[in-house]
Amino acid sequence: MKYGRTFNFSAGPAMMPEPVLEEIRDEMMNYRGSGMCVMEMSHRSKVFQQIIDEAEQDLRDLMGIPGNYKVLFIQGGATLQFSMIPMNLMKNGKAVYIETGAWSKKAIAEAKKVGEVIVAASSKDENFTYVPDCSDLDIPDDTDYVYICENETIHGVTWNKLPNTKGHVLVSDQSSMFLSKPCNVSDYGMIYAGVQKNVGPAGMVVVIIREDLIRDDLTDLPIYLQYKTHADAGSMYNTPNCWAIYCCGKVFKYLKSIGGLEVMHQRNIEKAKVMYDFLDASKMFTGTVRPEFRSLMNIPFVTESKELDAEVVAATKAAGYDNLKGHKSVGGLRASVYNAMPKEGVEALVEFLKKFEAEHTV
Ligand SMILES: *Cc1c(COP(=O)(O)O)cnc(C)c1O
Repeated sequence: MKYGRTFNFSAGPAMMPEPVLEEIRDEMMNYRGSGMCVMEMSHRSKVFQQIIDEAEQDLRDLMGIPGNYKVLFIQGGATLQFSMIPMNLMKNGKAVYIETGAWSKKAIAEAKKVGEVIVAASSKDENFTYVPDCSDLDIPDDTDYVYICENETIHGVTWNKLPNTKGHVLVSDQSSMFLSKPCNVSDYGMIYAGVQKNVGPAGMVVVIIREDLIRDDLTDLPIYLQYKTHADAGSMYNTPNCWAIYCCGKVFKYLKSIGGLEVMHQRNIEKAKVMYDFLDASKMFTGTVRPEFRSLMNIPFVTESKELDAEVVAATKAAGYDNLKGHKSVGGLRASVYNAMPKEGVEALVEFLKKFEAEHTV
C-alpha cells in the first residue's frame, strides 16, 4: 500500500478509494481556483452549488434514479432516520418491520415510540444468521410501509430477494451495501444510507425518497425532521455537511469511471469469494452466516474459543490488518470489505490467516 496505509477492515468509517483521496489532497488548499478549500466555502456559493448538483446528478446516473424520486443529503447519520421514517411515513400509525439483526432492531425500537410496529418476521431464533422467508407475510391493509435493513452490518446477513410487500411501500436501510451493486430504485418507496460505510466521511445520510411520500401536512413536526424541509431547500435548509457531500461526489464520479455498479458488484463478488472460500476450507475459522445469506460487505467469522479469537485479532493488527475485531454482540472477528477495499487486501489477509492456522495447528 502506498503512503504506508493499512488495509483497514473497519465496519465504518471505512476505506476510501485511493484515487479519490489523492484528488481531495490535490484540491485541499485551493479548490479549482476558488482560492479556498471546500471546508472553508459558503454553501450558498456558486462553486458549492455546482459540487452538490453534480454529486446528485452522478448518483442519479449511477443508480438510475427515476425523476419522481428526490435525493436528499441530511445530517444525523443513518440513526436519525430510525426516527424520521416513522414520524414522516406513518400516516395510519402502523408499519411492518422485519427483524434481521442489530440495525433493524434499533430501527424497530425507535419506530415503536411513534406508532404500532408489527414485526412480521424475525431471524432472532438463530441469532440473526439468515433472512427469514418474506414471500407471503401477513401485512394488514392499512400498513404504511414495510421496513428492512438490507445488509446487517454487525451480523453479516444480506437480502438476496426483497420481501413481498403486497403493494405496500418498501423502506430499506442500505447503509452498509449502498452502491455495492445495481439497485432497482423503483422497487422501493425510500432507500437511505449513512455514507461512512461504503461512500464517504461520517455524519451524513443519503435519502432517496419517492415524491408522493413527502408530506406537507406535518406542520407539528419539528421542521428539521420533515423530509419536505430538506426536499424544498435542495438539502440546504441549514448549512449542510459540505465536506461529506464533496467527498461523496468524488466517490460517485470514481464509481462511474470504473464502469458503474455492475463492475463494482463483480469486483465485490470476487473479493468476498476469496474470504468465504478460505473460511469454508479452514479448520480453524468458521463463517457465522448461512451461505445463501452471506453479505458481500461484512464477513463475520469465529474460531473455537474467545481466547483464540483475541489472539488472531492481535496478530492481524500487528501485521497491519486493522479493525478485525468482531462486534461485541457477535464476538469473533469481522472483515468488512466495502467497495474501496482492494482485492489484494483480502488476499493478503487470507494468506496471513492461512499461515496463522498452519502455525497454530499441531
Ligand atoms: C452504521 C449503520 C447505521 C448507523 O449509521 P450512523 O451514520 O452511525 O447513524 C445504521 N444502519 C446500518 C445498517 C449501519 O451499518
